[in-house]
Amino acid sequence: MPIDATEPYHADNIFAKILRGEIPSSKVYEDEWAYAFEDINPQAEIHTLVIPKGEYVSWDDFSTSASAEEIAGFVRAVGKVARDKGLVEPGYRLLANVGAHGGQEVPHFHVHIFGGQSLGRMIA
Ligand code: AMP
Repeated sequence: MPIDATEPYHADNIFAKILRGEIPSSKVYEDEWAYAFEDINPQAEIHTLVIPKGEYVSWDDFSTSASAEEIAGFVRAVGKVARDKGLVEPGYRLLANVGAHGGQEVPHFHVHIFGGQSLGRMIA
């Protein structure tokens, strides 16, 4: 079920549990600002998720309320994960779903990194 991106943050969401180490994840990268792990239901050859360590529901919440340091740290982490996976030369796609029309299901802001294959048109 897609979430309502205007709801307040709830720390019982599955990505918050991953950040707290309460449920397992396939870790790819971690720093002060971000945590990256493999998507459990990959939609491409490479499908990695990057989440901020701070508590933000969506892109809207993050872009409104995160500090400049958090935003810079997170954006750099997304770029680093893609670079470290060798995706810059072949190319890749970033996606952030927001709310119902975006199809966002997990109410902790995340960016999808897709790659490892030609990804076709923007919207299927
Ligand atoms: P979204 O629709 O943008 O909210 O995407 C949520 C993504 O989280 C989906 O691609 C799911 O496959 C993925 N996902 C859900 N639970 C887990 C989990 N425990 N570990 C890794 N990925 C997950």
